[in-house]
Amino acid sequence: MEQDATLESTLEAIENIAREIGFECTGRVATEALSVRPEVRDMCAANRCHRYGHSWSCPPACDPIESYQEHIQKRRMGIVVQTVGHMEDSFDFETIEESGLLHDKRYRKFAEAVRNAGLECTDGLQPYFLGAGSCCMCNPCTYPDAPCRFPDKMTVSLEAAGFVVTEVCIAAGIPYNHGQNTISFTGGVFV
Ligand code: SF4
Repeated sequence: MEQDATLESTLEAIENIAREIGFECTGRVATEALSVRPEVRDMCAANRCHRYGHSWSCPPACDPIESYQEHIQKRRMGIVVQTVGHMEDSFDFETIEESGLLHDKRYRKFAEAVRNAGLECTDGLQPYFLGAGSCCMCNPCTYPDAPCRFPDKMTVSLEAAGFVVTEVCIAAGIPYNHGQNTISFTGGVFV
């Protein structure tokens, strides 16, 4: 019971941080509802995002999907955060790019604030982060010529970890698609 109260206050603290940072949407998810899928790695290998083989945070350099499942399952709950952009039309690539950059900026601030908040997580573990898209802390990424510069802060995306983002959103009770001419970027933290 006491553990539930602690978890609840951790989740509320994270939601407050997410709200202050400005994410348009947040949702809670029980980690037992989430499963990695090997076919997500096949989609990464198709390289439609042009990041496959270009970052320590992406396949084939990042860890096997089973290890992400393990990290998640050691924790009980997650908070999913979203940036939602509104485009003029479906060819509004400028808004798509701006929204992605905004999400990345917000997510890094969010991760820093959650790390610094000293929140209590399941079994005394640290919060575990999975973001959106390839890590862009350095430009360019040092992959493959030198080790990652910030291995403790580098964030792997939900997709690279093997999760289907639509499934994560459904499990968190939030939309993946916020309507016509919108674009959403989704990340999470697990505690
Ligand atoms: S922290 Fe830098 S070196 Fe490491 S994955 Fe991210 S961009 Fe690459």
